[in-house]
Amino acid sequence: MSLETHLNLLIVDDDDVDRMAVRRALKNADFPFRITEACDCSSATEALEQQTFHCMLLDYLLPDGNALSLIQTLRKEGQNLPIVVLTGQGDEQVAVEVMKAGASDYLAKAKVSPTQLSKIIQGAIRLYEAEIQVVQTNRLLRETNERLKVKTRQLEQQRQQIHSQNLQLMKASQLKSQFLATMSHEIRTPMNAIMGFSQILMQGNKGKLTDSQHSMAQRIFDNSSNLLGLLNKLLDFSKLESGRSEVMSAPVNVAKLVLATTEELRSLADQKHLKLITKIQLEDKKIETDADRLRQILVNLVSNAIKFTESGQIEVQLSEETEDRVAIAIQDTGIGIAPQHRDHIFEAFCQVDQTTTRQQAGTGLGLAITRSLVELLQGEIQVESTLGSGSTFLVILPRYLDLATDQDFKEAAVSAIPSSFI
Ligand code: ADP
Repeated sequence: MSLETHLNLLIVDDDDVDRMAVRRALKNADFPFRITEACDCSSATEALEQQTFHCMLLDYLLPDGNALSLIQTLRKEGQNLPIVVLTGQGDEQVAVEVMKAGASDYLAKAKVSPTQLSKIIQGAIRLYEAEIQVVQTNRLLRETNERLKVKTRQLEQQRQQIHSQNLQLMKASQLKSQFLATMSHEIRTPMNAIMGFSQILMQGNKGKLTDSQHSMAQRIFDNSSNLLGLLNKLLDFSKLESGRSEVMSAPVNVAKLVLATTEELRSLADQKHLKLITKIQLEDKKIETDADRLRQILVNLVSNAIKFTESGQIEVQLSEETEDRVAIAIQDTGIGIAPQHRDHIFEAFCQVDQTTTRQQAGTGLGLAITRSLVELLQGEIQVESTLGSGSTFLVILPRYLDLATDQDFKEAAVSAIPSSFI
């Protein structure tokens, strides 16, 4: 409702002259209106039942009651239209009482003039609109509050569900890790026996083998050794994943470690006629870390570099990243990795070439293990690569492995292991 629309007014007064005075005054008021007249409480109530009014001008004294009781009754019934009470001169006490009962305003009859009337009606309507607005806003707030309560309850239910699902997942994951660890262990023992016996056969101490028998024994040995490698990786992975991997921190000459590990892999590079270069650009070569874990990281990355390079070279560079961090870069001139695969190669079982005819053997676990190990050592790993030109894997490690916060890092490392394995 606004004052621009046609105002529907109800004048309740038993005095014809007074009603006429109000009507006359309204005629000169500055808003369009329509008037309905009533001369007592009952006809006013009747009119209110039949129409909706924007405002009621109510005389205080009426033949069948007074403004006070009419206002009280109307308000009790939920009628909340603006009511302006017309009082006699000097009826301040009456004015106070009707205002208390719920009148919007009052006006002494002697002051009824076009300006006064339009001012008071507009004021009453504005007040009414403001009240309506407050009521609506409050209702809206209450509804929003209710909706929020429902949402909060739903969220809490979802949180509990997720919590119990997490517990189930953890249980399942633990069982799976336990299963993997037991199976790997059980398979490793006979596998070692197979490898040992095939080696004995090849040595010829138990009778010389023909060339074809030797080649068969060699194949038994090679395949068993591949299988053992796979089992070891699975075991490593399940240990890392379940957070059962121990980390130690001790002083290490990182330059010696890098050189020795690279040397261990030189024969692999030689077989493919690849150059294997090591560059040490580090003054203070002492760091504190877990040497076995770092060695494992280097073996994985350098052997991958050799595996995925057909010609050219592999360069391992050790340098100072910052005062308290060292960097090891393993750069190859191999097949490279396409941008769309770069983010996925650290996921468990991810291999860029997934065809059955792929040239390189592997499990797709090496980089997942490597990343978890790097995180276990509180470091980070990055890769840069150009398809067809080569790749550089960069491992950045802190000079001092802080075992006080190791638990947090272990958890971070475990959570970094992709869920595809779960
Ligand atoms: P895999 O056992 O297959 O080597 P990894 O987890 O070590 O598993 O590597 C995952 C995949 O990432 C590899 O299959 C290969 O596609 C890609 N990759 C890893 N290292 C290199 C590299 N130096 N050059 C090119 N591709 C690589």
